[in-house]
Amino acid sequence: MKSGEVRMYSCGPTVYNFAHIGNFRAYLFSDLLHRYLTHFKGFNVRWVMNITDIDDKTIQASRKPGDPKANLREFTQKFEAEFLQDLRTLKIAENVSPDSAFAFYKMPRATEHIPEMQDLIVKIIKNGYGYVKDGSMYFNVLKYAKDHRYGRLLAIDLEQFQDGVRIDADEYSKENLKDFALWKEKKEDEPSWDFFFEGKNYAGRPGWHIECSAMSHTYLGDRFDIHTGGVDLKFPHHEDEIAQSVAGYCEDPVNFWCHNEHLLVDRKKMSKSLGNFFTLRDLVKKGIEPKYFRFLILSTHYRKRFHFTLKGVEAAKTAVSRMQETMYKLLELSEKGDGREIGKKKMADLLKKTHKAFGAALDDDLNTPQAVSALFDFLRKLNGLLADNAVSADGALAALSFFKKIDMIFSVFSFQKENLEDSVAQKIAQRNLARKNRDFLMADTIRDELKQQGIELEDTPDGTVWRRR
Ligand SMILES: [Zn+2]
Repeated sequence: MKSGEVRMYSCGPTVYNFAHIGNFRAYLFSDLLHRYLTHFKGFNVRWVMNITDIDDKTIQASRKPGDPKANLREFTQKFEAEFLQDLRTLKIAENVSPDSAFAFYKMPRATEHIPEMQDLIVKIIKNGYGYVKDGSMYFNVLKYAKDHRYGRLLAIDLEQFQDGVRIDADEYSKENLKDFALWKEKKEDEPSWDFFFEGKNYAGRPGWHIECSAMSHTYLGDRFDIHTGGVDLKFPHHEDEIAQSVAGYCEDPVNFWCHNEHLLVDRKKMSKSLGNFFTLRDLVKKGIEPKYFRFLILSTHYRKRFHFTLKGVEAAKTAVSRMQETMYKLLELSEKGDGREIGKKKMADLLKKTHKAFGAALDDDLNTPQAVSALFDFLRKLNGLLADNAVSADGALAALSFFKKIDMIFSVFSFQKENLEDSVAQKIAQRNLARKNRDFLMADTIRDELKQQGIELEDTPDGTVWRRR
């Protein structure tokens, strides 16, 4: 809406346990959109992702003797820290934290924005779309639906509406259409905040939906450009967010809604009871490097259901390793400074074509599968040129700078040759020691490990040498 700037809000985590890999699909999608808008379109992206540290689940999970507010804080802080750690591992919203001062990133905590939520609730009630009942405050859905459209993101059958019945739970289904809670009256042993309204204290705590409406408004204003989240949030969360923001702030609070599809394991939604539930840490324990998970998710179209398999991760690893291997070759070549002119025009044309195809794919609703396929076309041709010794040092540099540009999106590659050499040298030294100690099992394990990374060892009379396959 404002030239050169994009304001974007993403529904963040509810910090009551470790986020699972389905949750991370949503954050990886937002990260992709953010990186694309920033690095390929040149926008300043103001990105806000909330931390839900008060809702039904956090209250339930933090229940124990003592001060409920202190218990809640202690409990949510732990999972918030774990979540931020996982974000860093996956290179999502790097450098962002709830306490960071970056003007363009915000990660507001719900518990630190209670007054803003109360302001919005008062506005909604004053505008005639909310009411007080038994110490709690509710949104009047039917009244709202008379004046505005309720069901902007998906069709809602208001015939199903149960008039005069209210729902206090944060999550409910389309079949459970009732007036929803904006503010819930304090219950014994639950954290609560004072709320003075019309001369009375309605001590209690916010409903889940009001949190996002108030926090997006605080940092992005009445209207902003993009709101992201998983498809499962369309109803009730996002539909109710729209209703609250329209009732309190303005018509059309969000220009674009972008929803990512589910991640499925064994063709089903992940659940602990089905035993198909993985956190990021579970993957790491299985020996999966997070960057391969990142690439796997990013190279799948965000609006397609994604079936997660270990085989898929292996394929992503192979894809990344193949590109990385070529990048290492380019690095070596670029350092030669051979002054050759060979292949200059060919490389320039190839890069231009690839850059165009890659950008066009992203422009088309972030079609990353197509972008990756353009990348592999490029890789094949580039490897052909390398095999023909038809790439000069300058050509290698140009190809590398293109790879660096696409890594602004993927963030999975390394552009430092030394890292690899050091780690390989270290492994060879370990293996030599193992052989000296006649621990051939260990020696073979190290050899296999390197082979998996695309490194082959050869034992010569002058010692062990290595090369990339
Ligand atoms: Zn939200």
